[in-house]
Amino acid sequence: MRVLIVEDEPNLGRQLRSTLEGAGYAVDLATDGEDGHYLGTTESYDAVVLDLGLPEVDGLTVLDRWRKEGRKMPVLVLTARDSWSDKVAGLDAGADDYLAKPFQTEELIARLRALIRRSSGNASSELIAGDIRLDTRSGKVTKDGEPVKLTAQEYKLLSYLLHHKGKVVSRTELIEHIYDQDFDRDSNTIEVFVTRIRKKLGPDVITTIRGLGYSLEEPAA
Ligand code: CA
Repeated sequence: MRVLIVEDEPNLGRQLRSTLEGAGYAVDLATDGEDGHYLGTTESYDAVVLDLGLPEVDGLTVLDRWRKEGRKMPVLVLTARDSWSDKVAGLDAGADDYLAKPFQTEELIARLRALIRRSSGNASSELIAGDIRLDTRSGKVTKDGEPVKLTAQEYKLLSYLLHHKGKVVSRTELIEHIYDQDFDRDSNTIEVFVTRIRKKLGPDVITTIRGLGYSLEEPAA
């Protein structure tokens, strides 16, 4: 899962990025509204954290432009404390949630998790396929109740497939959603990660759909 942060306060931006990376997300950071709008238009994100007070172009305008352009990714806006008018304006412009500054990063992460889950049609914070379970809160994966250790990239890939269980996900889509902008993207590594996940979780957990990509489905009964 890949998240865009648009925040002009350098310390807060860096802190959010490292916290979200620690929580298993690929993260891009934009520090003004123009750059943020551009990234949100040209890259694929599973969620966006958008500050409203931004240089160049303000957050509400950025959000309004995205929605008019048909960009549907979930957006959580950061508002000034106690500014009910900010919250109303944010929601009216197409925000999916808001958080008032200052906030606890744990709350931000919980809200992002919920937004991403809902936008991919998952009601529960635990994602399940057959005997594989991924707890999005703890980041733990189990097979048949036994803990399985995945690397950060393996986790990102499995998590994306689980969020989109039953759909065919192309290699390009996986690359767009598990790497940040600065990562040296090599589509062959996807194949490597899939092979490693199969070794750890079983050969049938991920199905290769020739020429199209990968799919994660409940095994047929
Ligand atoms: Ca600001």
